[in-house]
Amino acid sequence: MNRRQLLYSTGLTMMSGTMARATGAAPSAGSTNDRSQALRLADYEPTSMLQVKETPVARARFPVIDVHTHISIPAHLENGVAIAPERQYLAGPEELLSVMDRKNIRSMVNLTGGFDHGLTESVKRYDRAHPDRFYTLTEPSYPLFLKQADAIEQAHKNGARGLKIMKTLGLYLRSNITSGTLVQIDDPRFDSMWDACGQLNMPVAIHVSDPVAFFMPTDRFNERYEELSNHPDWSFHGGDFPSNAELLQARNRVIARHPKTRFIVLHVGNFAENLGNVAENLDRFSNMTVDIAARVGELGRQPRTARAFFDKYQDRVLFGTDATPHGDDVPQQNFTDKLYEIYYRFLETDDEYFDYAPASVPPQGRWRIYGINLPESILRKVYNQNAARELHLSV
Ligand SMILES: [Zn+2]
Repeated sequence: MNRRQLLYSTGLTMMSGTMARATGAAPSAGSTNDRSQALRLADYEPTSMLQVKETPVARARFPVIDVHTHISIPAHLENGVAIAPERQYLAGPEELLSVMDRKNIRSMVNLTGGFDHGLTESVKRYDRAHPDRFYTLTEPSYPLFLKQADAIEQAHKNGARGLKIMKTLGLYLRSNITSGTLVQIDDPRFDSMWDACGQLNMPVAIHVSDPVAFFMPTDRFNERYEELSNHPDWSFHGGDFPSNAELLQARNRVIARHPKTRFIVLHVGNFAENLGNVAENLDRFSNMTVDIAARVGELGRQPRTARAFFDKYQDRVLFGTDATPHGDDVPQQNFTDKLYEIYYRFLETDDEYFDYAPASVPPQGRWRIYGINLPESILRKVYNQNAARELHLSV
């Protein structure tokens, strides 16, 4: 090929590329726009070019009570329901205490302490062995159903500080425990259980529903598409599942019917995507507080709304993380120094556009967060005073 031919062919190639773009025709094979060779979403890990201030916060400014952790979990689950008291322990106290001491965590509240002899053993291993560093909550023994109130009283005697309700209620528990129709959150058979908690001064830490996106189809419009693809069993779309709104309404009926029982509604009232709704409920129910566990990603992507929320409800927001030791498949909950540093940075600084979880791809949706720079008076309440009041702890 002589030089002239070369120029001619190159010119044509360039021109055909330009034409294709101008007319919107499919790009030629081998071009970087070729869809068949497009970068897969799973492989996309963009590095931010933004140069902004970074303020590492190695220790919380005040001692922390983490009201939402999972140190023990049920050893036997059937269709999402714990059917036996035996527990599995995710980490021993020594391993936990070393992180706690570094991060200024005074206490961890293990929500999933279970019931019966599983609970007794959890309390003995953690609470009794290390007073004020660990507190344990009990959980309903769902196979008992009607005799729940007695079980709660016994759990209280055995050292349980409160009752934890998982999303089992509303999304897994069925009329025959693991089969049949779903049991409603406000099923009157549980009324004596809620009342018992009120009488015994045991707060109810309640998780119903889940992020709204978990109730939508797992498709290209879903903002948590990658999270749901990684955990397909977290989707509550279709089947006989109620909607997010129906679950929250049933929960609200329970809170309204039991004004003497205190409810810590976990994960920012389980509607961090809509702080207006959470605020409405806090205004309606004086027996309701919220924690912020596993929702720093939601709060931090709406920093101005979140800051106004913390200002207004500073006496009703509790620090929690959902920390799970060795939770490697859930980076937003994995109990490590890094997890706490992110929460502290969110609460204490005005840093911009940082990761809400220690992971190469944001695990709960592809966005980053902004700090809300709380003043010391609010930090004290959120880090420990509100939790101490609700759980009757001395600080
Ligand atoms: Zn949790």
